Amino acid sequence: MNEADSELMAASFIKRGFKLTDDLKRADAVVVNTCTVRQRAEDKAISQIGRLRVWKKNHPEGKIFIAGCAAQKLGGKHLKNRFPFVDEVIGAKDIDKVDAMVELFFGTTQRGSAAAGQRGGYEPQESTAARQQDSAAVTTSASLSTDHLPPATVSNVSAYVTAMRGCSLKCTYCIVPEVRGPASYLPPEEILAEAAAKAAAGAREIILLGQTVNAYAYKTPAGVVSFADLLSRTSAVPGVSRVRFMSPHPLYFNADFFRVFRDNPKIARYVHLPVQSGSDRILKAMRRGYTRTEYLDIVAKIREAAPEAAVSTDFIVGYPGESEADFKETLSLVAASGISFAYCFKYSQRTDAEGLAPDLGEAEMEERLGRLLAEVKKNSSDILNKRIGRIEEVLLETEDSGRTSANFIVRLDRKTGLKPGSLIQAEITGVSKNTLKGRLTL
Ligand code: SF4
Repeated sequence: MNEADSELMAASFIKRGFKLTDDLKRADAVVVNTCTVRQRAEDKAISQIGRLRVWKKNHPEGKIFIAGCAAQKLGGKHLKNRFPFVDEVIGAKDIDKVDAMVELFFGTTQRGSAAAGQRGGYEPQESTAARQQDSAAVTTSASLSTDHLPPATVSNVSAYVTAMRGCSLKCTYCIVPEVRGPASYLPPEEILAEAAAKAAAGAREIILLGQTVNAYAYKTPAGVVSFADLLSRTSAVPGVSRVRFMSPHPLYFNADFFRVFRDNPKIARYVHLPVQSGSDRILKAMRRGYTRTEYLDIVAKIREAAPEAAVSTDFIVGYPGESEADFKETLSLVAASGISFAYCFKYSQRTDAEGLAPDLGEAEMEERLGRLLAEVKKNSSDILNKRIGRIEEVLLETEDSGRTSANFIVRLDRKTGLKPGSLIQAEITGVSKNTLKGRLTL
């Protein structure tokens, strides 16, 4: 979500004729998009802000904006007192006000009609290139939560579109509901307009984002637009070849979703489904709202609807009270669920809304993390190897590499001569580390 928010903020600058840069010497404005999921992330953001003191001294006309979750948590008053050279602080809950803030500081000049006044407005950078004068540096300090991390960097052919903000669940270890507020859903027409604008700008894959994206439900006079409806409508946007979504929550799957997932080949055969633990005892302590069996049942239904689908997940090891037996349940879930990939994290007290202290020492935590990572690696390798010999549809991100619908990266044996964004068929010929090797067949 933080990356999507950075993109949203960047769009506000771009449509006013700014150009993005990571070179502070050239920047006229700096945005630090902060994270607070771990103390380290917050500390990093704070020291990044502190270092901007010198920049402001050398660029007195330059503007500094602090955004995101740490900004929300620490508050504008605190941050401005501590860093008086900061021009404005805008918390994660106020992301919709970023455009108004940028307008306040830089006016409405050079506003593109496609983006004017719209939340999530988007204008391709190319179209403003000729009139770019200023530069803005937008930096993301880190990702927001152990849940819902994007599994890979988004390429030029993929674009994020936010479908919902916040979260109404209350997992004990998570700060998201506090800093982003309860779940709120964007109007479908706004989401579809953004998807259309991004497709018109070259994106072929739309990634619908939300903390519990499959909870999406938007009331209209004609009835409720469900997540399944949203997937179908997004896939019908001209130019869109694939639709991904991130991240669903096990609590919100339903028959409509599985029907659309089964019948619509444009819906990517990939689900990032955070589980966090394989032990019912720990899942209950985390207040995740499902059991191991229920999680595995959803994975089975995903595979029933699309046998070629890949499922990835997130794990937290060392949650307070996690015994060796609980941990072994997590280890065994890796093979039982057949996940292709997992983000694995050590429990951090910092993220626990109830402030539970870890009861494992650092060495023990590391040891469990190492065992889990080894299990995930072994399982991933088996899953990659099973793809050898298959013919896969690949969405090209470069002339000779791209992604399958199940989100595996494929490196082709030669340049295709085709543009990024083209869909090709490739025979999978081998595996190299975490990627597949392929040969163009069509
Ligand atoms: S589902 Fe749980 S972990 Fe995910 S954002 Fe909501 S509270 Fe946090």
